[in-house]
Amino acid sequence: MDCIFCKIVNKDINADILFENDFFIVFSDIKPSAEIHKLIVPKRHIDNLLSFNDAEVLEYWSSLVDTINVVSDLLKTKDFKIVVNNGNLQQVKHLHIHFLSGMNVNDKVN
Ligand code: 5GP
Ligand code: ZN
Repeated sequence: MDCIFCKIVNKDINADILFENDFFIVFSDIKPSAEIHKLIVPKRHIDNLLSFNDAEVLEYWSSLVDTINVVSDLLKTKDFKIVVNNGNLQQVKHLHIHFLSGMNVNDKVN
């Protein structure tokens, strides 16, 4: 599958990676909408927020909250915004969670 985020997960293309664990990789958005703009991306290709099966959803949700905690610690901020675009609102059709903080945090993320 020709998916830009799968290529980042597989290290086929470069990204500014902050952190990774078993479930997620976290890297800088190439075109930041705010002073801090990270993307939290499941390592397995999942199309969008509605694509989890029942078995996956709890472990991914739990890991996502853990991952957000780590990102918050690493970036030393508890003042952030989480945005998920879904379906036709996604540019990249691999689920990703925008983590936004700092200046311009209220700018539109598209
Ligand atoms: P969406 O509109 O799908 O929610 O957001 C996709 C995001 O991925 C955009 O903010 C865009 O800047 C970012 N993006 C697209 N291609 C790349 C890439 O190759 N590398 C990185 N780091 N970010 C990308
Ligand atoms: Zn993918």
